[in-house]
Amino acid sequence: MKIEDPHALHLPLSERAKNMKSSAIRDLLKVTARPEIISFAGGLPSPDTFPIARLKDAFDRVLSAQGKVALQYGPTDGYAPLREWIADRMSTDGVRIGPEQVTIVSGSQQGLDLLSKVLIDKGSKVLVETPTYLGALQAFSMYEPDLQSVESDDIGLVPETVARIGQGARLLYAPPNFQNPTGRTLPLSRRRELVAICARMNVPIIEDDPYGELSYGGERLQKMLTMNSAGVVHMGSFSKILTPGIRLGYVIAPPALSRMLEKAKQATDLHTSQLTQMVVYEALKDGFLDQHIPVIRRLYAEQCETMLAAMQDFFPPALKWTRPDGGMFIWVTLPRHIDSQQLFEESVAQDVAFVPGTPFYPANLATNTLRLSFVTVPRPRIREGIERLGKLIASKL
Ligand code: PMP
Repeated sequence: MKIEDPHALHLPLSERAKNMKSSAIRDLLKVTARPEIISFAGGLPSPDTFPIARLKDAFDRVLSAQGKVALQYGPTDGYAPLREWIADRMSTDGVRIGPEQVTIVSGSQQGLDLLSKVLIDKGSKVLVETPTYLGALQAFSMYEPDLQSVESDDIGLVPETVARIGQGARLLYAPPNFQNPTGRTLPLSRRRELVAICARMNVPIIEDDPYGELSYGGERLQKMLTMNSAGVVHMGSFSKILTPGIRLGYVIAPPALSRMLEKAKQATDLHTSQLTQMVVYEALKDGFLDQHIPVIRRLYAEQCETMLAAMQDFFPPALKWTRPDGGMFIWVTLPRHIDSQQLFEESVAQDVAFVPGTPFYPANLATNTLRLSFVTVPRPRIREGIERLGKLIASKL
């Protein structure tokens, strides 16, 4: 029996299950896991940055001093000291975020699912930028919305298009910094315009920001959250600044929406692991991130520079690519006649992998784009992989 064919399963499935698609990247990672492959495909952070000793020590301290609490069930909205720590970190001189606005989730991916549960009905209009994070498309699609792609250019979402098509939308998905997959960052003026337009139309903005701390120069643009905390839902994650294996993220929303998320989360998993939350709080409460994040930034900046220099040396001039100021990704646009899915197959045969661009588009798929991640490959191998890929592309021109 073909296991992916729902009709081969003689059970009465939901319509939703029949339409479910597997994540193209998660499937592709199975192909690219062979050790001989130079993989620019994964969205994985560099394991060299995982603070193993610090976490080991924090686990030890939490289990020794508070083991009975850490191993017990906990509150659905999260461990109170961690919620307070996040609220303080998100507050600015002008805008105070309260802990009652913070919901701890099991990775921000769960935040996307919970938000979809409370905001989207079948057929609801949902606005997303083009291209966008494929895991968000997957999370929204489970609730069968009318996904509409907003025109986006080299600097991100075009506000006029949101104004034109946004009336009645249930949400606008707008990752602001070093976006996945393109690496681009939404400038301050566009953030302000989007916040004003969406406030007028009463459309919540989902500001999904797992990469915001990874700015190579250390500077950060103002969050849309602090421009309008009544109309913007901000999502953060510990995956890229600590480790993804702990599955810890958070959603900051107006208090009434946070209570809805709490009910949705009760039904999903009761709460995020209390042990994990306590350990992370223990590891971070004394300012650890202030030393740790600069280490990640430096490493990723060097890796990015190595990849950009290799692309300059080995990619044919007919290609276009982004030059990110932070985060983990570079986005490449090939000449129109090159299909990146086909290129992927030929490239994997030569032991180099990337992610073809089509799964990042909800509609009007561009078949000539691809995403490269530079953070997990050692620098000499980055050069080798880009040289091989450049030669393969050159052979098609
Ligand atoms: N949002 C974006 C834009 C992402 O790139 C990712 C992970 N790659 C996530 C959310 C999910 O992150 P996590 O669940 O690990 O917090």
